[in-house]
Amino acid sequence: MKRLLIENIKVITMEGDYIIPKGYIYIEDNKIVKVKEGVYEGERDNFEVIDGKGCVALPGFINCHTHIPMTLLRGYGEGLPLMRWLNEKIWPFEARLTEEDIYNGALLGIIEMIKSGTTSFVDMYFREDTIAKACRRANIRGFLGSPIIGDMWERQIDETLSLYDEFKEDDLIKIFIAPHSPYTCSFETLKKVGEIARNYKLPIHIHIAETKDEVNIIREKYNKTPFEVCKDAGLYDENKVIAAHCVYLNDDDIIMVKNYDFTVVYNPQSNMKLASGVAPIVKMMENGINVALGTDGASSNNNLNMIDEMKSASLLQKLSFNDATALSAYDTLKLATVNAAKAIGMEDKLGKIKEGFLADIILIDFNKPHLNPPTDIYSNIVYAANGSEIKTVIINGKVVLKDYKLLDIKENETILNANQSFIKVIERL
Ligand SMILES: [Zn+2]
Repeated sequence: MKRLLIENIKVITMEGDYIIPKGYIYIEDNKIVKVKEGVYEGERDNFEVIDGKGCVALPGFINCHTHIPMTLLRGYGEGLPLMRWLNEKIWPFEARLTEEDIYNGALLGIIEMIKSGTTSFVDMYFREDTIAKACRRANIRGFLGSPIIGDMWERQIDETLSLYDEFKEDDLIKIFIAPHSPYTCSFETLKKVGEIARNYKLPIHIHIAETKDEVNIIREKYNKTPFEVCKDAGLYDENKVIAAHCVYLNDDDIIMVKNYDFTVVYNPQSNMKLASGVAPIVKMMENGINVALGTDGASSNNNLNMIDEMKSASLLQKLSFNDATALSAYDTLKLATVNAAKAIGMEDKLGKIKEGFLADIILIDFNKPHLNPPTDIYSNIVYAANGSEIKTVIINGKVVLKDYKLLDIKENETILNANQSFIKVIERL
């Protein structure tokens, strides 16, 4: 058995607002066995010990919506309007990606996420088998869904099911089913996806109502809202649904989706950058809808940093509702931890530092000028931190980042490989 002790540590448990001012976390294999105030007094033979002095422990962040290999497209085709950007830049580039490029882009994104405190992510991209390899290489949790889009949907559903078969016993990888959106999938596709999800108990990861254009296209085709179309296709029935964006939803949509196991993933930076609009998150939360947080892909953000995203998430709601009390720092932190764990069906295993939970823990180094004085610890993390304070990261009981250094992955080599992939794709254009 592997034993890990983190001592001299302040712990934000995310169980209500319970904070342990100074204590320890004792981990056996991949589970948290004890979280307590004071000093660990048991034996210490064969223990790995981390001194948490000056640090704050927090559950690792769960990025609930991204397209991880799109790190390769970071900064590519900037400044174009959405449709020209997609047609002239993004889609031709993506059509030329090889399996090796996807691996290189995924690993680059994964190390960026680990270094900024993310320990799990929900992904939608082609070649999730390859992305799974990068997850295993880095020891990060991946909730992976291969996109189902357009006319090839039957083959894509088969691909999802073979991925499900391959990874159903995996510790770190879980397969989701990922219909791209109600405007890129036919009604028949959405119906079939709902059925398959029910039969195999696969959570659904989808984009809904990202832009006004989408709402108009759906209105013209069905005379309904995007949320109604998905409902009428039976997508929500007995299924767990994780819906990215949800920028445009009306009061009836809100009342409708709250009756289902439905999580909205708020992507504030992507929505601002693409001028999509502001999702009415405060209103959804007031109505009891579960809301989580995502970065979206690096081509529309342009980073995968959840601390950065939390700040935008909170500020944008305050501005949008003209209310300085809207979406507090603590509630924002919940979007990235507790609510996200609920979204992926792991609320009894992830999102809190709690005895019996999986050991996905980050240590934030508070010995930084911009985090002092530590008057309000939640607001310092959400508004003052920037991700560069993540000193140590533990995923599934394994230390993957220690004293700011990745233990198992060569950072420089990963950066070099990704940059070379980018150059090769450009040469193929
Ligand atoms: Zn997306």
